[in-house]
Amino acid sequence: MSTIICRKCKQKAVIRMRQHRLALCRDHYLEWFGEQTQRFIEKYQMFQRSERVLVAVSGGKDSLALWDVLWQLGYQADGFYINLGIDGEDHYSLESQRMCEQFAAERNLSLHVVHIEESYGAAIPVLARRTRRGRGRPCAVCGLSKRHMLNRAAREGGYDVLATAHNLDDEVAVLFGNTLNWQVDLLSRQAPVLEANEDGFIRKVKPFCRFYERETAAYALLRGIEYIEEECPHSVGSKQLAYKELLNRLEEDHPGMKLSFYVNFLNAKQEGIFNPRASEAAAFELKTCPNCGSPTTNNGPCAFCKIVQAENR
Ligand code: SF4
Ligand code: ZN
Ligand code: ZN
Repeated sequence: MSTIICRKCKQKAVIRMRQHRLALCRDHYLEWFGEQTQRFIEKYQMFQRSERVLVAVSGGKDSLALWDVLWQLGYQADGFYINLGIDGEDHYSLESQRMCEQFAAERNLSLHVVHIEESYGAAIPVLARRTRRGRGRPCAVCGLSKRHMLNRAAREGGYDVLATAHNLDDEVAVLFGNTLNWQVDLLSRQAPVLEANEDGFIRKVKPFCRFYERETAAYALLRGIEYIEEECPHSVGSKQLAYKELLNRLEEDHPGMKLSFYVNFLNAKQEGIFNPRASEAAAFELKTCPNCGSPTTNNGPCAFCKIVQAENR
């Protein structure tokens, strides 16, 4: 088998990206990855250098790679880690917290840590059991809690923008699921940037939304980032994983399929095909949670406060 060479310097390549018809050596890959991140930040007008970014980190490769590349690019980026109290055999939460703390200490970066059990009295699996939907799988309650806590931390910490490390594989799996069920309201809100609004939602951005998971993994590996390799024990058997496997098989036969599915979706959105009708937009009119001050569609406590308060009933 012939050696694959870097397109830029003709040295031996460490990665070949069939979807981009591009092979690069270590140094040129790291350079390309930083340039692409910068390009996506500018293309989707995610944030400026003068703005403070809060990066949601889980201890996994994508979120630590995102924090690392933003730091390398010279952005003012702090980290935010939520200990969900999911321990299992691998001590998932403890280990992932340790990875984030180690990462921040090595680079002298600022990391905020919230321990959900200490702050709200119960870990995610316990909170989930208080809801009908959460009894089987805690993911819906976990997702809601993370969104709530991230937005609140960014708002209270005076950050301009909240960055998450969703990659193309994540985005395409969500897009696929929403399309299968024609969830037009969710499709209309799936985007690389969700703008802030006066009701208290911070701008949310996904700088990695056009990188394949394989590309973010290569970046983490080549930068020597230590991350937690175990997945959350509750991810096993999820629909999201099943969609990813199916999409991987399609990508294998048709390189670039995921990227074109996602980019064509964004283009279609820009042409206005998923704009919510005025009546649907009105249904999202927001109020303020009397308990925590977060925006909510509820009259009274927000969905997160309702779950936390359920303990006292
Ligand atoms: Fe939370 Fe489910 Fe993700 Fe685990 S797999 S971190 S429970 S959303
Ligand atoms: Zn090279
Ligand atoms: Zn609340």
